[in-house]
Amino acid sequence: RPDSTYIDIEHDLDAEVVNLFGAYAAAGGKEPILSAKVDHYLASHVHDEAVLVVDLDIISSTYEGLRQALPETEVFYAVKANPAEEVIGRLEAHGSNFDVASPAEIDLCLNAGADPSRISYGNPIKKLRDIAYAYEKGVRLYAFDSEAELLKLAQAAPGAQVFCRLLMTDSAGADWPLSHKFGCPDEEAVRLLRRAADLGMDPIGVSFHVGSQQVYLAQWENAIARAARVFEALERSGIRLTLMNLGGGFPARYQRDVPALMEYGRIIRAAVEKEFGDDWPRLIIEPGRGLVGDAGVIQSEVVLISTKGSADSRRWVFLDIGKFSGLAETMDEAIKYRLRTAHDGTATGPVVIAGPTCDSADVLYDKADYHLPLALNIGDKVHILSTGAYTSSYSAVNFNGFPPLRTICL
Ligand code: PLP
Repeated sequence: RPDSTYIDIEHDLDAEVVNLFGAYAAAGGKEPILSAKVDHYLASHVHDEAVLVVDLDIISSTYEGLRQALPETEVFYAVKANPAEEVIGRLEAHGSNFDVASPAEIDLCLNAGADPSRISYGNPIKKLRDIAYAYEKGVRLYAFDSEAELLKLAQAAPGAQVFCRLLMTDSAGADWPLSHKFGCPDEEAVRLLRRAADLGMDPIGVSFHVGSQQVYLAQWENAIARAARVFEALERSGIRLTLMNLGGGFPARYQRDVPALMEYGRIIRAAVEKEFGDDWPRLIIEPGRGLVGDAGVIQSEVVLISTKGSADSRRWVFLDIGKFSGLAETMDEAIKYRLRTAHDGTATGPVVIAGPTCDSADVLYDKADYHLPLALNIGDKVHILSTGAYTSSYSAVNFNGFPPLRTICL
């Protein structure tokens, strides 16, 4: 688990940040969420290496924003997005449940005080001994998407509740699709849930994930309609499903406009109403990015600014953080982070942005049209906004001898 630290700094603007976030939940758009507390911390502390600073109060207000937008759902935080102890502890205190991918994530949640009944083992790819570990710890809710996994569950978690993940072939609208690796076709889900009952398991429902950073709300409408057909098919076999897991996909504020959380809520609730009438199943959401993404800022430092001669006049800006130390989601330039420097507001020019390692894959943005101030210098700080999700957990421990990304929670 990457290193993280809690620092208690008092800041009189806390309340303002929380209010601001309430407005964000209702508003949508693309303005970043700025934390006075993080800014204050970064202005008053020196770090020699890149660091991720997380404002736990923004996580609190986002959690409340999601609860307001989707009051009928239970939140299962996707721990993989940011496994810092302090983040899990804060969400535990709010009464959040947890979606985990491994025994280590189960331990993190249990150590934070979560009851095993509040943990869902949502990874459909598990070792038999890891299932046995989870079962022994009291976890009773498991995902699967194949017969082979179901057989493992029947052996190592007898009688547990299982839900089947549906394959989403179309992830249009998502910046980080989670399509073909996960899920099975709807007919196969029907067959496998029947098989689960035959194996003595408790087939409780279905799940899907419409793709991470998903801005096409119609994707939830399609997925909910498909899930409803699976419910009906099972009902005809005398099996009554009771759980629909709506997955993640809720957005953070990168470069692109995103709908307001309230809009996600409106579309999702209308779709459930349309498909299930007044007989709603139990609903789960598994936000990762949308819950913690906007709470974090990475502070990095400019190591080098150079050019490649007359063929390409763009400046190359090398930072002390790259693809291997936390910014893996710049792969294919999928996630386009917003950058901030002390020179913002002055004249800018086009740049290629790269990481510090001796690996030529460690280029963050080349095709995307990034511009940075002409006044930017070696040694200047660059803040990378909305980096609370999928950064510290992606950071290599020692690639090229660089330390893993450290997290500071405020
Ligand atoms: N649930 C599951 C099973 C996932 O695999 C993921 C992400 O990989 C999530 C939830 C979180 O998705 P997001 O970060 O888009 O909210």
